[in-house]
Amino acid sequence: MKVFYSDHFVLPLPEGHRFPMSKYSMLRERVAQDGICGPGELRTPRAVTDEEILSSHDPHYLGRVESGRLTDKEMRRIGFPWSDRMVERSRRASGGTLGACLAALEEGFAANLAGGTHHAFSDRGEGYCVFNDSAIAARAVQAAGLADRVVVIDTDVHQGNGTAEILRGDPTVFTFSIHGEKNFPFHKEESDLDAPLPDGTGDAGFLTALERGLEVSLEAADADLAIYLAGADPFEGDRLGRLAVTKEGLAERDRIVLESCRDRGIPVAVTMAGGYALNVEDTVDVHFQSIRHAADLVTREVPDEGRMQST
Ligand SMILES: [Zn+2]
Repeated sequence: MKVFYSDHFVLPLPEGHRFPMSKYSMLRERVAQDGICGPGELRTPRAVTDEEILSSHDPHYLGRVESGRLTDKEMRRIGFPWSDRMVERSRRASGGTLGACLAALEEGFAANLAGGTHHAFSDRGEGYCVFNDSAIAARAVQAAGLADRVVVIDTDVHQGNGTAEILRGDPTVFTFSIHGEKNFPFHKEESDLDAPLPDGTGDAGFLTALERGLEVSLEAADADLAIYLAGADPFEGDRLGRLAVTKEGLAERDRIVLESCRDRGIPVAVTMAGGYALNVEDTVDVHFQSIRHAADLVTREVPDEGRMQST
């Protein structure tokens, strides 16, 4: 399966910063060791262009991000200090989601080992999100004439507020968010479908709400492509999650999302979104099982010669 990574575009953070930067390189190493990718399939994405970003973001916002002219307040809201490398990393992370969408359209499934930056609004960033990779990638594949309709399936524990805002009123992209109702962001936007869950929701409650929401979303979306935010933060051991979903429950989540799409013939680009477990290995385990499951479906569904040799 084609997998895109951008963890070598390291963004400088002050010591003790709580963003789990190490999860990205750990995840890439795990993917590389596991043999998920054939030769040349573990790739660095290109940076998204200004034009691609402007499909989803305000030109003044892009200009101020690019030149480092965001106010201190705006940077605090994003949660990273500004640097050229922050801008480059954000462009590459969106490029990874776009790359995964293009690969998924050809092969059924692909993944970006970053992205899921769903708190980026058209004119501002927040919660470690600068550019909204889902909106940018959806609109880029539409502009290229490769998909008419896209569904964003956001299972990160935090609501996809930026995605909802950017894509509100766009009938060609359906947004579904399942999230903790009491969790950040405290002011929720309106997705096409929201499934808010109470604190402490476990596997049964999470999976029941997911199945119900997914059914409605896939029916309404009539999509040619899905972007799946496989956040690791609904996990019971997450510091920011407030839910209690087990690793097994999250594996079942992956199965339900990936196989529901496969059964309807919808290609899926898997993105990572959040994950803040006390133990970073747990976050990596949860992300890895999402990628592993997607890769298993590629192998079975598209058994072309090259891939058979590589697995
Ligand atoms: Zn999150």
